Amino acid sequence: MDRLPMIRERELQLNYRILCLILMGISFGYSLILWIAKRRSADNPILANVQDVYDQETYQKWRSYQRENQNLSGISTLVTTALYMVLLGSGVLARLATSDNPWVAMLQVLVPMFTLDALVGAAFGYYSTFRIEEKYGFNRSTVGTFVVDQIKEWLVSMAVMAALMSLFILIYENLGDWILVLFTAILIAVLFLVLLLYPWLSKLFNKFTPLEDGELRQRLLALLERNGYTVREIQVMDASRRTTRSNAYFTGAGKTKTIVLYDTIRTTMTDDEIVAVFAHEMGHGLHRDTVKNGALSILQLVVLVLLAWLTVRTEAIYPDFGFAARNYGLALLLVSMAELPLIEPFFSAVMSWVSRRAEYRADAQAVAEGCGGELISGLKKLARENLSNLSPSKLEVVLQWTHTPLSDRIASIERLQKEKKSK
Ligand SMILES: [Zn+2]
Repeated sequence: MDRLPMIRERELQLNYRILCLILMGISFGYSLILWIAKRRSADNPILANVQDVYDQETYQKWRSYQRENQNLSGISTLVTTALYMVLLGSGVLARLATSDNPWVAMLQVLVPMFTLDALVGAAFGYYSTFRIEEKYGFNRSTVGTFVVDQIKEWLVSMAVMAALMSLFILIYENLGDWILVLFTAILIAVLFLVLLLYPWLSKLFNKFTPLEDGELRQRLLALLERNGYTVREIQVMDASRRTTRSNAYFTGAGKTKTIVLYDTIRTTMTDDEIVAVFAHEMGHGLHRDTVKNGALSILQLVVLVLLAWLTVRTEAIYPDFGFAARNYGLALLLVSMAELPLIEPFFSAVMSWVSRRAEYRADAQAVAEGCGGELISGLKKLARENLSNLSPSKLEVVLQWTHTPLSDRIASIERLQKEKKSK
């Protein structure tokens, strides 16, 4: 008679392993909703001002490209979430952590997980690069380049993870709750280092050569000088080694400020269009957009450290997952797989909104330089070349798009042009 209520009470007790599976289920539901919205948007009509981007044949090509990519991303979310739910739910991770040393026990969990994650990522990356991108004529990468890229990324992420986690353990084991202040400070320092060193770090993956002297370079330098802006260098990146896609971006901060043009842009755009795109990138520089993004990332880091601190100090978590003692590797997995994915959509929405505003101001810079028309034709070329999505779902734009859809973007460039004329 007495046993029944006892059992009920035990069952109702909060079990962190079940809680973790519920949280992962919720974020999976979110991915599913977003995925459905993306799939349905494939039927959206293409708006009037961007109808000349695709001819009928390219339009059909774009639609099937969208569909294939969306299917792949849906399947990859499904597979990785299921994999992590099984690994975290089954308690198998506890068997990996045999050492009493917190550093070794952390690596015993994280190294196999990072490797597994890299392998699954590489499998989907392989399909995306050599099946989908290849089929639509984007891919120029070889299997050799791809494999070397994957290994480099795996090594870099393992080294960064091991270094940061070791610091985390060192601080937490010795200074306890001071972790909140100290580790946040360390992450901020790393962030700024990466921001400053990005032009140098990207040399691990690509070759950069200064833009050769000539009419284009002179025009770009004159543009910079007119605006009293200096960059360390105008670089051309050998993007054509991997892809036919073209682009340009602004990077670095302070003394390492660099504007990078993909070599592919030189073949697809006229010099006038390149100047317009360059004026846009200079706009990012003038508005210190990389620094502002850095500030937003700091906010994200604070939340991350807070979650890590809460997870690590909740001793009851570890036995629920079958661990004999606190394991920092498990804590990192819980933060990154169960906790952050719930907060990420909110951050992503805010960051995307900030980015879309920054893009608007950068476009305004190009208009102020009198090259709004060339920017529009350049952007249309980029969209055509990259088979860009011209009719995305509203939900997707709000939550994830760092750039305004082309149609709205052209409309606002034209509005800015009119404003400029009437002045
Ligand atoms: Zn931009």
